[in-house]
Amino acid sequence: MKLGFIGCGNMAQAMITGILTQKVVSPQELIVSNPREEKTAKLKDEFGIITTTDNKEVAKQSDILVLSVKPQVYPAVIKEIRDEVSSEQIIVTIAAGVSMEAAERQFGKEVKIVRVMPNTPALVGEGMSGLCCNEYVTEEEFDLVHKIFESFGKAEKITENLMDAVVGVSGSGPAYVYMFIEAMADAAVAQGLPRKQAYTFAAQTLLGSAKMVLETGQHPGELKDAVCSPAGTTIEAVNVLEKKGMRSAVIEAVTAAAKKNHQLG
Ligand code: NAD
Repeated sequence: MKLGFIGCGNMAQAMITGILTQKVVSPQELIVSNPREEKTAKLKDEFGIITTTDNKEVAKQSDILVLSVKPQVYPAVIKEIRDEVSSEQIIVTIAAGVSMEAAERQFGKEVKIVRVMPNTPALVGEGMSGLCCNEYVTEEEFDLVHKIFESFGKAEKITENLMDAVVGVSGSGPAYVYMFIEAMADAAVAQGLPRKQAYTFAAQTLLGSAKMVLETGQHPGELKDAVCSPAGTTIEAVNVLEKKGMRSAVIEAVTAAAKKNHQLG
């Protein structure tokens, strides 16, 4: 099986690193194009993958082809490769706001499309992806793509109308989490903790808390209550977060990203 990527920016590099680290395909089965060679150079040096500046070559050779360019570049790239793409190949789109119908229209013919919204923690094997597909993709083919995305994190099948929600919560989500880590660390530094240690304390606290939610299956509110001793330190902090409107700030932020994704489509 040949897996191709057109565009080798942040998201593609995260996915390719995840895929090769987990040995889903061998480096020789992976082909990547990017007009700027420096973008593919690091992966080529590290893993020995095949790289090119020719998108058509990648389109021709791939059984599964991931379009990992920015949404506004999709029309140009699809126009460039559409004559090379056959109805046997699986096209994976990962762009915010590009519906399967829009991608199909740009191809101008029946193509198998799996639409995915991944996120950058794929780089460390902890990605979160939402996937859906059009009617030309068989169950077996969908499972194959699903397995690829599961190799570097969690992957859930969703219906396309839920893509906006997925962009809001997990596609864009890492950025909000990094902001939270920075803010926690800044406060710890203000209290005297060295900067490097502050990031470790803050990030590990997020990682551990996330694992508690996923692994215990307990309600997040219940887990929060278990940290809040009566008249203790934590409930003081919780009180401040509620007064400052943390929950509504997060809800509005996630909704804004989801709305933007909808508008892009
Ligand atoms: P990026 O800008 O880091 O990468 C895009 C790459 O495409 C660049 O390396 C650029 O040189 C290359 N490129 C530009 N024109 C090209 C062309 N004509 N042919 C081939 N390559 C070309 O962007 P990114 O953050 O990796 O995002 C890529 C896609 O992934 C976007 O559609 C985005 O919506 C989606 N996405 C990104 C994230 C994220 O967290 N970054 C999360 C989910 C989905």
